[in-house]
Amino acid sequence: MTVRTRFAPSPTGFIHLGNIRSALYPWAFARANRGVFILRIEDTDLERSSQAAVDVILEGMNWLGLMPDEGPYYQMQRMERYKQVLAEMQAKGLVYPCYMSVEELDALRERQMAAKEKPRYDGTWRPEPGKALPPIPEGVKPVLRFRNPKDGVVAWDDKVKGRVEIRNEELDDLVIARPDGTPTYNFCVVVDDMDMRITHVIRGDDHVNNTPRQINIFRALGVEPPVYAHLPTVLNEQGEKMSKRHGAKPVTQYRDEGFLPDAMINYLARLGWSHGDDEIFTREQFLQWFDLDHLGTSAGRFDEAKLRWVNAQHMKMTDDATLAGFVAGPLRQMGIEPDGRLSALCALFKDRCDTTVALAQWLRPYYQDVTPSEADRAQYLTDAVRPALAALADALAQCDWTKEGIAAALKAVLGAHGLKMPQLAMPVRVLVMGTPQTPSLDAVLALFDREKVVARLKNA
Ligand code: GLU
Repeated sequence: MTVRTRFAPSPTGFIHLGNIRSALYPWAFARANRGVFILRIEDTDLERSSQAAVDVILEGMNWLGLMPDEGPYYQMQRMERYKQVLAEMQAKGLVYPCYMSVEELDALRERQMAAKEKPRYDGTWRPEPGKALPPIPEGVKPVLRFRNPKDGVVAWDDKVKGRVEIRNEELDDLVIARPDGTPTYNFCVVVDDMDMRITHVIRGDDHVNNTPRQINIFRALGVEPPVYAHLPTVLNEQGEKMSKRHGAKPVTQYRDEGFLPDAMINYLARLGWSHGDDEIFTREQFLQWFDLDHLGTSAGRFDEAKLRWVNAQHMKMTDDATLAGFVAGPLRQMGIEPDGRLSALCALFKDRCDTTVALAQWLRPYYQDVTPSEADRAQYLTDAVRPALAALADALAQCDWTKEGIAAALKAVLGAHGLKMPQLAMPVRVLVMGTPQTPSLDAVLALFDREKVVARLKNA
């Protein structure tokens, strides 16, 4: 059996980290099992759906490397198919027309509430052997209701929740087509999951109440339902369900803030799944390890500090040339065109940064003027050190422009002026880099244009 999974977003706004995790797991499960990952756009809510939202979904998935093998399929393009299945169900007596008006339904609900009963459709229009149905009202278009089994239980072994059993009595006969003939949500999902031969439905647990209804429709159609895994919610840092309303950011904003796709995958993977105590892993390791048996059962809580830490680890792990590719974007944002030094610059500074944007900031002095703060100038550019700085400027104007050549020039000036390394290195850093804290000075300087360094030292 080939594993087939799907991500089925509704394109009604941007997607945040909680949403994209519902793409990550089915994607990973398909990849881990040499299966097929399908993208299905559930766009039947015409008022709230938009192409712009679809584009944002695709952009986010593309950035994270979660591209589908099939799709996107659009539910709005499958209406004929839904209507065909509806007609087949009608022919088999699996659905029936219900003429109950909205007023009647409201009155029924009120009676049930008053009697402290759960509001539900009472089966007035459900045909039964020997039962007389009410006369069909004139000029009313009926809805179609699914003939839910009356007895027994509907049960499944959820990969997260374990065995779930619902008594059929609890479920009333679901409306699966509106008076104008358009199919309703739960029905479309079943037809799609059936036609797309989905083997594993991995989705948020906000859908768990739909599952028994969907399973009953599957069975009525003579199709074995897929395996279900209902993922616990993702909470924000305040412990609320992550949502746009509660300040969640669009996934692509993390790209713009300098997070690496593989770090995001790593972080999101851990927000609801575990592999022993492993916190940091590559995309390849994740795909080797991912299974549905180690999904967490409690809500995951977003933690930006941890995400930053994970990103910092991935920046260290990423080879310099690849990292350079990710830093080029933020550099261009700063008006800097990257050049051949970029890999070496990344190697030198990556250990100090938790985002590629922060790394790009470190590289600014290599390309743009620096203005050391008055406080740093006052603290480090003392009269005692000025002669040494002038001598260093001369030495650097002539030395071999390599790390070794620069180290030798520094050493010679220290000796000639009776200074210790920090006494000279700190003011040099302030003048050249605009800050007293940098990696090893010879390595920092070697990646500069010689003229820039000499000119900045003369600025003492
Ligand atoms: N369209 C649904 C949503 O965005 C997902 C439905 C499903 O996965 O079955 O929440």
